[in-house]
Order: sequence, then C-alpha cells, then structure tokens
Amino acid sequence: MSDERRHLAAELNIGFAALTPLERLRSLVERAGGPVVFTTSLGIEDQMITHLIFANDLPIQVKTLDTGRLFPETYTLWRETEEKYGRRIKALYPQADALEALVNDQGIDGFYYAPEFRRNCCGVRKVEPLARAIAGAGGWVTGLRRDQSANRSDMDFVSFDGARGLIKANPIFDWSRDAIVAFTAEHGVPVNALHAKNFLSIGCAPCTRATRPGEPERAGRWWWEEETKRECGLHVDGADRPARDVTNRPARAGAAFERLPQ
Ligand code: SF4
Repeated sequence: MSDERRHLAAELNIGFAALTPLERLRSLVERAGGPVVFTTSLGIEDQMITHLIFANDLPIQVKTLDTGRLFPETYTLWRETEEKYGRRIKALYPQADALEALVNDQGIDGFYYAPEFRRNCCGVRKVEPLARAIAGAGGWVTGLRRDQSANRSDMDFVSFDGARGLIKANPIFDWSRDAIVAFTAEHGVPVNALHAKNFLSIGCAPCTRATRPGEPERAGRWWWEEETKRECGLHVDGADRPARDVTNRPARAGAAFERLPQ
C-alpha cells in the first residue's frame, strides 16, 4: 500500500504542474483512495483553499487545530467563514491531560525559554491533534507555498508522507502571495484582519509578531529562535522523518521556572 501511494504521489506531482488549484483538488479527491482532509490555519493561503472547497462543494473535510492560543481576530474569521459558506470548519483540541501536564511542567508561556519547551507546546497543541485530524485519510491538503521559507522551497506539489502513510498535496504551492491576495479580493474571500497590520504569517498569538519591511514572510513566527529551526512539526521533511514524539513531557520538568527573570 505504501509503495502504491508513493507511486501515486509521484504521478500526481508531475500532473499537478499543468493544473489549476481547483483541478488539483479534484484530481486528488478522485485518486487519493480514501477521504481527503484539509487542515486550515485560517491564513490567507488556507482561506483561498477553503473557498475553492466550499464554493465548489468538493468532498474534502475542512478542519482546524484550535491550540487555545489563537488571536481573537482568528476566531472572528473562523466564524465569518462559516457564516459566509454555510459550512462548519471542524475543530480539534489538545488532549486535556497532556495540556495540563505541559502547562504545569513548563509554565503557561514556557515556549519562550527553550526550543525544547516550544516544541513540547507545539507537540501537544498542534502535532497530536493533527494526527487525529488526518487519521484514516487518503489525502491531506495543505496551503504550503514554495516561497514561504527556505525550509519549504524544496518540497513538491504532492508527496508521500511516509510517517503518516498518506498523500500530502499542496495545491497552491507555486502561487505567489500577491496572486493569492488578488484571488481573495476578487472572490470576496474573508481574510484575517491582522494581515493588513503586517502579520503575513499568523499562528498562535504569543508566537507571532508583525513583520517589518523587507523581512521574510515567516520572520514573525517564533522570532526569538534560530531561523532554520522555525517549524512547528506539522510538516515532516522530504526524507519522511516523523514528527517528534509529542507525548513526551519536557526533559527537565520545572526548568522553565529556573529561566524566568527573578
Ligand atoms: S505556536 Fe506557540 S503557543 Fe502555539 S502551539 Fe506552538 S509554542 Fe504553543
């Protein structure tokens, strides 16, 4: 089965180049061999894909990971999107026990004090819920774009996610940000109000800042960390390395307290 899906992913990857984003989504639905799930962060790229799915009534499940730390503007957009299309965006939440353990171990904002703590938080709030969101799916749609960051530039339109055993498709991978902005304006797609305040890439509130002129799009995400390591673990790399074990608690429980300003 894995070999079949790997082969199919390679075929789709070649075919995608000549198709529009809508045609790519239709092609994935026809060939994925199982349910197709789109996980949206409600960023502008994802809003374009949500529009394509809802406006064309595609049989793709639209889900979001509510980390509990999102901006108020993101929740407003979530509601506005459901109202506009008359469709529900299914929510997934962190496991209560894991979240309690995380916060009690490393503090409510422990992610500022060590990369390990940041990965622990993303693990509990994002990566584990993602695993449930796409469990049993044949295809997983994302809004990744080639020019968002150096980490993403060598990805493909379509790949086989060996860690999760499914086909991962990026239907707007070759679209520029400007083209997506134009598309959303032309089609009346609701977008996050923070984009107009220079928040180019929007994640959790405590881990996102506005970008300054000339900065890369994702410069406002986890800005206190080394640039090359700023990913949350949702997207494994081309070598199919699995995301880290998200159920692990911090190696040094309580260490965050030692790092807090006294
Ligand atoms: S982005 Fe920040 S708050 Fe959100 S899950 Fe990751 S570390 Fe936690």
